[in-house]
Amino acid sequence: MKDKNRVVIFDTTLRDGEQAPGASMNEKEKLEIAFSLERLGVDIIEAGFPVISKGDFNSVTSVARHIKKATVCGLARSLKKDIDAAFEALKMAKHKRIHVFLATSKIHRDAKLKKNKDEIVALAVQAVKYAKKKVADIEFSPEDASRTEKDFLYRIIEETIKAGAKTVNIPDTVGYAISNEFGQLIQGIKNNVPNIDKAIISVHCHNDLGLGVANSLAAVRNGARQVECTVNGIGERAGNASMEEIVMAIKTRSDIFNCSTNIVTQEIVKVSRLVSKFTGFAVAPNKAIVGNNAFRHEAGIHQDGIIKERTTYEIMRPEDVGFVGTGLVLGKHSGRHAFKVRLKSLGIDLKDDQVDKAFERFKNVADKKKEVFDEDLVAIVEDEVKLVQNIWNLVSLTTMSGTDIPPKATVTLYSKGKKFKKSSGGDGPVDACYKAIDALTKMKGELLDYAIQSVTRGKDALGEVTVKVKFRDKIVITRGTSTDILEASAKAYINAVNKALS
Ligand SMILES: [Zn+2]
Repeated sequence: MKDKNRVVIFDTTLRDGEQAPGASMNEKEKLEIAFSLERLGVDIIEAGFPVISKGDFNSVTSVARHIKKATVCGLARSLKKDIDAAFEALKMAKHKRIHVFLATSKIHRDAKLKKNKDEIVALAVQAVKYAKKKVADIEFSPEDASRTEKDFLYRIIEETIKAGAKTVNIPDTVGYAISNEFGQLIQGIKNNVPNIDKAIISVHCHNDLGLGVANSLAAVRNGARQVECTVNGIGERAGNASMEEIVMAIKTRSDIFNCSTNIVTQEIVKVSRLVSKFTGFAVAPNKAIVGNNAFRHEAGIHQDGIIKERTTYEIMRPEDVGFVGTGLVLGKHSGRHAFKVRLKSLGIDLKDDQVDKAFERFKNVADKKKEVFDEDLVAIVEDEVKLVQNIWNLVSLTTMSGTDIPPKATVTLYSKGKKFKKSSGGDGPVDACYKAIDALTKMKGELLDYAIQSVTRGKDALGEVTVKVKFRDKIVITRGTSTDILEASAKAYINAVNKALS
């Protein structure tokens, strides 16, 4: 590392982020996120924990094969079989790192590992040395570092650096630290570990007390030069420190931090939306940096100030994090060319036949809705142009419901050149519709979660329905959009059937 003031961004959305209950993603989705992270400019992508499962192993392998700019990292306990698995999974990576960890706090030593301090040091050193023989770039993490006795922490850091660790990561595994104290811990490491200049100090903060980002930033001010974080702050329990907040704090307050990152901040919103889509975790409207309201001004006095001079109430510009044009973009008289150009400016590059399909859908939406915003376009494209082969397609849907009549839905689907029609009752129009789809597709889905959200503005906004459906032992998360929420519900469910079948 030549530049002393560069903060390395280590993204662990695909590993620690994915550990959030209900966030699991498949191999294809993880790869798409990895590409997006690479465009974002993250330095290191922690792609998984290869020894844990076949799925994790394969995901790390596919990320390793395709990502060329960023370093791809695999996690391993201080065990030979873990390190071997990480090495195997990372083989194809252009730049690779193995991240070895071992718990060091008293409670973890006594209760979990049942080993004394000397044994812990010996195990860690042995693991780092073993990994170092396979890969040059080794990171070591003393798990639960923030609750480890300081002297012991200094000792194990010194020994693992001697053994070859190039990065030493200080995790606040349980989100226990308070910012001042955590900053001092990093300062203490700098002052008390004799060979610390041979490694980069990294931090990995959890958000149990809502301090993940604050603690990471306190560490940076005290000399940490790698931050481990996740997109949208997803992760176990209350989550990890959020990438976008750390990056924008360092950038916006460079007067305080005197540091920089390699992040292309204009890509932030895109990657945030992608992670939200694949995990099914909606981003709260008031979420810093990426929430839909993060740059919206409602109060009259603020609006007035903004019109006169933006910086009166705005410390960052929405376009700096990738929020695109807020004005009217297209209407029903817009042509195919304008449509394609607009998609391009949103970073969506489609093949001609895909443009045709999406354009047709756009015309339908534009007919119903006078104004089509950028958010509408993104929703249309995501809905219409998918990687998943559609076995079942919605032809028509009629529903009946009211306060005094039993709900009923009639669904017509198209598959392999034929149309199929079915009517069904249910607890409500959505339930009736899903029962009819189950009967037609002969797939018995169990609806685990259903959420509805408006993705765009105005009374004629596009509604987006997200469903989480279980088919036998397969769980899929899909979405559907329409100006009609029942149609959006049907589409989301049909997308789930298609995804389960693909
Ligand atoms: Zn963690």
